[in-house]
Amino acid sequence: MPYLDQTQVQGKRVLVRSDLNVPIDQGNIRDDNRIRASLPTYKYILDQGASLIICSHLGKPKGQKDPSLSLNPVAERLQELLGREVKMAPDCVGDEVQALADSLQPGDVLLLENLRFQPGETKNDPDFSRQLASLAEIYVNDAFGVVHRAHASVVGVTEHVQTACAGFLLQKEIEYLGKALSSPEHPFVLVAGGAKVSTKLGILTNLLDTVDRIIVGGAMANTFLRSMGVSVGSSKVEDDLIEQALETMKTARSKGISFYLPVDCLTGTDLKAVKPSGIFPFQDVPANEMILDIGPATHTLFAEVLRDAKTVVWNGPMGAFENPSFSQGSVGLAQSVAKVEGLTIVGGGDTDSLVHTCGLVESMSFISTGGGSFLEFLEGKKLPGIKALGL
Ligand code: ADP
Ligand code: MG
Repeated sequence: MPYLDQTQVQGKRVLVRSDLNVPIDQGNIRDDNRIRASLPTYKYILDQGASLIICSHLGKPKGQKDPSLSLNPVAERLQELLGREVKMAPDCVGDEVQALADSLQPGDVLLLENLRFQPGETKNDPDFSRQLASLAEIYVNDAFGVVHRAHASVVGVTEHVQTACAGFLLQKEIEYLGKALSSPEHPFVLVAGGAKVSTKLGILTNLLDTVDRIIVGGAMANTFLRSMGVSVGSSKVEDDLIEQALETMKTARSKGISFYLPVDCLTGTDLKAVKPSGIFPFQDVPANEMILDIGPATHTLFAEVLRDAKTVVWNGPMGAFENPSFSQGSVGLAQSVAKVEGLTIVGGGDTDSLVHTCGLVESMSFISTGGGSFLEFLEGKKLPGIKALGL
């Protein structure tokens, strides 16, 4: 069965692939959201009378042991959050780890050491996959952040276990993002922003048959403005994508989609400017100035476009929001999305942290835990980790 709640786990050893890649500073976990988000899946498995083996990657150790990337601090935090002992394995595979796994009783918890300490993980090595699989009878994938990667703990392992299924976190991602793709309520508004057109063009293209309105902001809007012959001062433009940006707008128009770009902007001399140089209409950006945020008229326009939306998918901030002088547009957009009464889906690492900073998490229907996987899912790609579960 593809989902955890349809799978018999009682009395079994269950291996859960989670995304516990949390920020750690000198042994201190700065943000334990990912650990907390994984708890419902863990608690369910333990309550069902199974033993639990958890695995994850942390950072990029490139197939070698690196003590600074040990999951030890995660084991400690997990122990506090679960209120029961969490054993820390010295590695993720091998005789010692196998013996630890074999000795587990129902209700016991074992955390494996960083998967990426082993070179076989990112290579999807069959031998490493088999060793991982031999630790348990049931495999649960609950790591949406890595389902676009054909790694051993995501893909290879599924070929060697008796049963493979999706955990609660992954299930939620598939349900929300799947709904946006296959049965959205209309009007459906796509909001795309952020740094680069190149990383977002795929999702724009794939949603052209589904959405009613598209809003483009952030640095990626510069390339679209440029494609219409507007000079955008010294703003970042992806020259090699100007043609494709224009084509995308033409296709959108031919399909009856309303396409909105910023009508005014805040500019600065560079990303670190202590205050905006001014507010300009999009066609009047001074030659030596960069567009760093959307302006107030654009904020009003975008808010109006979103007002009656029934479905919103939003990825990418409207400006260089890390600099408080240029964060107003992104904060304003977050507030507009938060007011929407329909289904609101937010994704992307920077957009996620923006929504957290604004305190608007509770006002969104769903915030995806994926960055690359969120984009690839909405590009319509079949993701290897999801396919491997037969979903
Ligand atoms: P996400 O992580 O949510 O997918 P991106 O990584 O695509 O978003 O984009 C976020 C980055 O884009 C931020 O670092 C932000 O500063 C930058 N950015 C957005 N608009 C601008 C702009 N007008 N000029 C320069 N950088 C921008
Ligand atoms: Mg980002």
